[in-house]
Amino acid sequence: MSVLEITNLHATVDTPEGTKEILKGVDLTIRGGETHAIMGPNGSGKSTLAYALAGHPKYQITEGSVTLDGEDVLEMSVDERARAGVFLAMQYPVEVPGVTVSNFLRTAKTAVDGEAPSLRTWVKDVKGAMDDLRMDPVFAERNVNEGFSGGEKKRHEILQMQLLKPSIAILDETDSGLDVDALRIVSEGVNRAKENTEVGIMLITHYTRILNYVKPDFVHVFVNGRIAEQGGPELAERLENEGYDRFLAAAN
Ligand code: ADP
Ligand code: MG
Ligand code: MG
Repeated sequence: MSVLEITNLHATVDTPEGTKEILKGVDLTIRGGETHAIMGPNGSGKSTLAYALAGHPKYQITEGSVTLDGEDVLEMSVDERARAGVFLAMQYPVEVPGVTVSNFLRTAKTAVDGEAPSLRTWVKDVKGAMDDLRMDPVFAERNVNEGFSGGEKKRHEILQMQLLKPSIAILDETDSGLDVDALRIVSEGVNRAKENTEVGIMLITHYTRILNYVKPDFVHVFVNGRIAEQGGPELAERLENEGYDRFLAAAN
């Protein structure tokens, strides 16, 4: 079982107006098997936290530490983080022109495992995972995210998670833009990962809707670059009723 430990994390980004601090001291520990919902208003820094953990070069870490099972994550390259078991499903998945879903998945699996998957089981695994997510087999021959609908992009992210079997999965607004059926299919995918592996999940969302399907063990309110409050699932219900105003007022 893995443990991701984030301590006093500060991060900045360079903007045309100068360097701006976005993360202002994030403390969070995620253990394998746990689901942590990170909820907060737009612009509070949730995606920045996700990118900082995945190693996006745009974000400079200015203070704090991140460890995975005691290993310094901040010292690792993007690839090393992926091999260590950290997976990021991006809020806005990017197109990869000229690379099919099938090739992309196989390349990612090979990179993460350090060896190519056995062809026999791999083909079956991909087909099974696509069936689970109600994805048409022809999808595998399309270029990654090119012309994908919002729902297809999100399913493709969950397909990757299901095949790569990360120890820590960061899901950044994987629920955004999904209709009820797609939300249920995507949520079932997350729940299968929870049942079949010891994955620890950071589920970033602004809506409580997905939490009806994927039950969080912990809920964190993320405001102005840090966690303003934490609690259990009941905190999500309070946010549904009260919104973020109270936390925003306290943070400013
Ligand atoms: P959230 O995901 O909670 O909506 P983000 O992490 O996307 O928030 O953004 C937090 C703040 O940081 C916003 O004010 C956003 O404009 C700013 N920001 C994030 N990334 C960049 C970037 N690459 N360049 C400039 N500003 C950025
Ligand atoms: Mg946002
Ligand atoms: Mg975001």
